[in-house]
Amino acid sequence: MRQESLSLEEFQQKFATEEGCQEHLFRMRWPEGYKCPRCTHDRYYYHRSRDLYECKACRYQVTLTAGTVFHGTRTSLRKWFWVIFLMARPKSGVSMLSLQRMLKIKSYKTVWMMGHKIRKAMAARDSHYKLAGLVEMDDSYFGGKVSRAKKEEAPWAKVKS
Ligand SMILES: [Zn+2]
Repeated sequence: MRQESLSLEEFQQKFATEEGCQEHLFRMRWPEGYKCPRCTHDRYYYHRSRDLYECKACRYQVTLTAGTVFHGTRTSLRKWFWVIFLMARPKSGVSMLSLQRMLKIKSYKTVWMMGHKIRKAMAARDSHYKLAGLVEMDDSYFGGKVSRAKKEEAPWAKVKS
């Protein structure tokens, strides 16, 4: 199922909050709802303070960002998503320096590392370097799979921590 690239405005609305970005990531990671990576159980506890999902059956703990380019980052997902979005736009020619200024990312080193990881993920299609479906590697369009997500209550809204 194909979808046109998101416009700037659509992107802005969709990923306006950190929660919106987490929701997107959650759906990319667990399209059918949470599933424990170890035992496939579907119930979990969410530990907000550490942003951890813990399996109710086997107690395995996993973060939303594990196995993605966002793993271990201290930069907000919002800023990450913007960098990916802007880098993925065809012929955008946007420089990392201008991204740093636009998104108010503190150090150039940080934005440089982000760009490095994103480029690597785009080039390698490495499953351990997923871009959360933000970029379809074939034609650099955004979020095609998300449109099929069920319009039901967000999975994490049910979570009790
Ligand atoms: Zn489990």
